[in-house]
Amino acid sequence: MSVIYDRVALIGLGLIASSMYWAIKRAGLAGEVTGYARSPETRATAREIGLCDRICDTAAEAVEGADLVVLCVPVGAMGDVAAELASVLKPGATLSDVGSVKRHVIDAVAPHVPEGVHFVPAHPLAGTEHSGPRSGFAELFDNRWCLLVPVAGSDAGAVDRLARLWRGMGSNVDVMDADHHDLVLAVTSHAPHLIAYTMVGVADDLRRVTDSEVIKYSAAGFRDFTRIAASDPTMWRDVFLTNKDATLEILGRFTEELFALQRAIRTGDGQLLFDYFTRTRAIRRGIIQAGQDTAAPDFGRGKGGT
Ligand code: NAP
Repeated sequence: MSVIYDRVALIGLGLIASSMYWAIKRAGLAGEVTGYARSPETRATAREIGLCDRICDTAAEAVEGADLVVLCVPVGAMGDVAAELASVLKPGATLSDVGSVKRHVIDAVAPHVPEGVHFVPAHPLAGTEHSGPRSGFAELFDNRWCLLVPVAGSDAGAVDRLARLWRGMGSNVDVMDADHHDLVLAVTSHAPHLIAYTMVGVADDLRRVTDSEVIKYSAAGFRDFTRIAASDPTMWRDVFLTNKDATLEILGRFTEELFALQRAIRTGDGQLLFDYFTRTRAIRRGIIQAGQDTAAPDFGRGKGGT
């Protein structure tokens, strides 16, 4: 793989930025990668583990001369960080981000983008429940989708170049409109996270009644919820605050379906439950056929729960 950008700057050094660095290095996609994080602790950790070719003590230093600048901070911080960097961006450079919500990021960042800088928002659909500079790994994006969400007037050459970078990091790339992105993600990621947070919260309440039984007999279904519910609180707070409309729309539909299933249980409507679960099982099969998850029992964890 050949160099796609001479200089890349990663702003924010958590799970996504650190995975980007290792994936860029794996394929030799950039001449030099600089990095900046706001806290001295994170910068010290990055230096200690060899994350980025050069860690800078100011964002301006990291961004100076960069051909690609990627904002890898929580969604709620994107606007302020973009405002801080705007005057240092090189004419002809591309400014991108990896935020999980796109309309809000575009509204917050676009006003700060100087003339001559290409703004190409992006969202890699890959993650884990871990965060921080030590949590990244080169394979995170392999065979996962990265959605590019160009804004009105985005330069086609800049979009194509960023797409080549994401493909080089192992991703499949699609282009999507911001509002559609936010609705799709509300269904596939944001509402499921809220449901997992809620279920673990309910179990925690129950634990007070049943002592440690919830932990002791924690089987696959609940364990999977606890993994999702261990995700970073700052990131997810920002996701719900900034993708409010789409998340509320999906949660409204979810509540209607939940009531329908609740009623079927109450009235003993086994046919409705059977048909519903048959339909959902087909969705799971579709995900496996698309290569987006493993068909191994218990996600390939070996001796699993029930
Ligand atoms: P992370 O591991 O928690 O790292 C966040 C980074 O942002 C840290 O370096 C942190 O700096 C910095 N930061 C936090 N608040 C900030 C603020 N107010 N101003 C400036 N910098 C700030 O996060 P991540 O999981 O990599 O997520 C980064 C972005 O990727 C988010 O927008 C998220 O929505 C998106 N994303 C996440 C996932 C996922 O599954 N995790 C997947 C796809 C996209 P310090 O360490 O110095 O505090």
